[in-house]
Amino acid sequence: MLKTFMPEMKTGEELRDHQVKRLKWTVAHAYNGSPTYKEKMDDAGVKPGGIHSLDDLKRLPFTTSADLQEGYPFPLLSVPFDKVVRIHASSGTTGKRKVLCYTQKDIDDWTRFFARCYEMAQLSAEDRVQIAVGYGIWTAGISFQMGCEAFGAMAIPAGPGNLDMQCQFLMDFQSTVMCCTASMGLLMAEEVNRRGIRDKINLKKMIFGSERSSDAMKNRIRDLLGVEHMFDIPGMTELYGPGTGLDCIYHTGIHYWADYYILEILDPDTLDPVPEGETGEMVVTTLEKEGVPLIRYRTRDLTKMIPGQCPCGSILPRHDRILGRSDDMIIFRAVNIYPGQVDHVLSGVKGIGSEYQIILDRKEDGRDYMTLKVEQDQSFDQGNASALSRKIAGEIKKQIMVSVDVELVEYGFLPRSERKSKRVFDNRDNC
Ligand code: ZN
Repeated sequence: MLKTFMPEMKTGEELRDHQVKRLKWTVAHAYNGSPTYKEKMDDAGVKPGGIHSLDDLKRLPFTTSADLQEGYPFPLLSVPFDKVVRIHASSGTTGKRKVLCYTQKDIDDWTRFFARCYEMAQLSAEDRVQIAVGYGIWTAGISFQMGCEAFGAMAIPAGPGNLDMQCQFLMDFQSTVMCCTASMGLLMAEEVNRRGIRDKINLKKMIFGSERSSDAMKNRIRDLLGVEHMFDIPGMTELYGPGTGLDCIYHTGIHYWADYYILEILDPDTLDPVPEGETGEMVVTTLEKEGVPLIRYRTRDLTKMIPGQCPCGSILPRHDRILGRSDDMIIFRAVNIYPGQVDHVLSGVKGIGSEYQIILDRKEDGRDYMTLKVEQDQSFDQGNASALSRKIAGEIKKQIMVSVDVELVEYGFLPRSERKSKRVFDNRDNC
């Protein structure tokens, strides 16, 4: 019997009590440790002793990516340097990179709650986990590995790419779990199918990180590989990195680790909470982080809370998949569109593959036009092309309320990538 990495709290009330206690600690720690946080809180008129309940959260000032960029290279550091044991950074040009410092406790906490991801996915000590994500300063493959080892399963630190080697490992090591991006998962599924090696591998579960995975993509991967479960693992460098939640085997949304951070869902314009179940920006406040605590950090990621209780019985609350970033929002003929909405519509249409591109053009009439290139699935009957195009355009019109030209392309026509696939091409110039 493996030890458990689930929270000690048994009820929502105990969880909230824990959050209040740790929020008080975090505010005092940040105030006393970081001159930037002290200044921000002094400006907002909040003192560490002034936090008594979760309701006091809204009195705290927001932190944004600008705070992290302005403090380059070591922004919001709240401990002396002799406590820092590692850094990670988000990729990007100098000045836009965010560097985050970790203490040994931060690494230990991260490892513990990453082990919880594998527990949530119901792995056992017998599982063999092929970790096909990047290792280094930009990408924290090491957290997948440390969590796996702490959990007690076998880690295979394969790194990203190299489909030939990945297929070999799947066969030779009989990996039961694979961690990668959803795009790479699709490439792997197609490669395994192309090589005809499905009955030589033993893959049961896949864990997808760092980009959105649509239902269509997952359905395609399930068809090709026959895996039992596919999970979404969220994570951003600012908040430790990957592993801050996972959907359980019921796949009703992502359980997030509310004993390590508080999640608010706010309207990105008014910064007021949205009604439960409506989409807004994720704003996070850490409860345990020492190196760089986050206080009401605006992530720009959009999602919604999932109300009610999950059939698995966990007290850990759930948020939906990331529906996009508020920065990725397309403004098209005065309608705000997130790429995740298009994913969602296409996932509900039969006869198409998982790949698509959104192309925006401004034509001579001065108006904006949107073209949606969509891949047919492999068994597609060309005779149905125009009916299918009309069906897709109709669903987009109905659900997102914009008109699009749909262009169906052959299966395999759109480029695949091992990392995030680029899906939006905005050719509109700003003049
Ligand atoms: Zn659940």
